[in-house]
Amino acid sequence: MQDPISFIDLAAQQRRIRDRIDARLARIMDTGAYILGPDVKELEAALSDYAGLAHTLGCASGTDALMLPLMAWQIGPGDAVFVPSFTFAATAEVVALVGASPVFVDVLPDTFNMDPESLDRAILQIRDAGKLTPKAIIAVDLFGQIADYPSIRAIADTYGLKLISDAAQGFGSTLNGEQAGRFADVVATSFYPAKPLGCYGDGGAVQTDDAELDAIMRSLHVHGQGTDRYDNVRIGITGRLDTFQAAVLLEKLPLFDEEIAARQRVAEIYEKGLRDLVITPEIMDGAVSTYAQYTIRIRGGRRAQFMARMRDAGVPTVIYYGKPLHKQTAYLSYPVESGALPVCDALCEEVVSLPMHPYLERDTQQRIIDAARAALDDARAA
Ligand SMILES: *Cc1c(COP(=O)(O)O)cnc(C)c1O
Repeated sequence: MQDPISFIDLAAQQRRIRDRIDARLARIMDTGAYILGPDVKELEAALSDYAGLAHTLGCASGTDALMLPLMAWQIGPGDAVFVPSFTFAATAEVVALVGASPVFVDVLPDTFNMDPESLDRAILQIRDAGKLTPKAIIAVDLFGQIADYPSIRAIADTYGLKLISDAAQGFGSTLNGEQAGRFADVVATSFYPAKPLGCYGDGGAVQTDDAELDAIMRSLHVHGQGTDRYDNVRIGITGRLDTFQAAVLLEKLPLFDEEIAARQRVAEIYEKGLRDLVITPEIMDGAVSTYAQYTIRIRGGRRAQFMARMRDAGVPTVIYYGKPLHKQTAYLSYPVESGALPVCDALCEEVVSLPMHPYLERDTQQRIIDAARAALDDARAA
């Protein structure tokens, strides 16, 4: 019997830092600093340093991190926020939660990220329709690859829109050495355990160079507090990052760059082993992906059979995402660029993600590649 293969292996990383995490958690229990303890401040400073941005606010989740800038800018009913449809629901959910309207935009077939031309058309369509006011764009760094920020920033500037980076999957990814914060007004990330930089529960962060925006978001994340804890100057939320999670992240952050490098090696091996049979991920020139997922495309309706064969061979595979957001029940009433998003629709039929994490060993990965090649042969013969 061969060892089972995990889709993501969090245990290998934990073995490297377990003692240090234990010590930090013990210190929190000794001092009782459960809410906004010193680890949160320390982490915020470390993350600002990592991203090269002036301000970082720890949040209870990536979803809160995405929602806080919308709240701070008072985006709400009658406003339009442009989002890709091929993403996790939270990207559009936060827009609806503040009462604004998500407007769904298509993605590029090679990078899976927001298509700047579709974005431009969507903005013009909304402007011409005259019912909603364009306010902001949320670009997603899907599967770890940074979005095409130079193009998207130019569009944001043309129409005077705010730009949020949903870096839940792509925190740490770069384009010509620069992270999303170089282009976006705000970067929101998630520390959900399965993300490239994950904690041991829920967590997130929102980062910006804008001191005033940071101050408003900081207030919003503790019930809109003013100068005094019981002086509420705006309607807010309970959006704090848990001190225990900050402690875990402080021990994980020093490993992060090394892990991103390890993910590149895993991706290269997949690329060499599979590119003649399937469509492997396309990375933009000058970009470094954090490979939150390693997602291939299988055409011709062979995906289900491929996944069944992989399961038989003991290899887990997952579909991210099987249905675009604009076709999900909760989002059916919101505008869609030109009424249809053909690339999002096609990708949802074709994508499948393979096991990917920085601790994937060479021989285990070879088993996955061998299984995939056999599964593709079977699927082709059928
Ligand atoms: C995970 C994720 C989020 C939300 O993060 P949570 O921490 O789970 O709230 C938002 N956007 C994208 C693209 C994600 O993958």
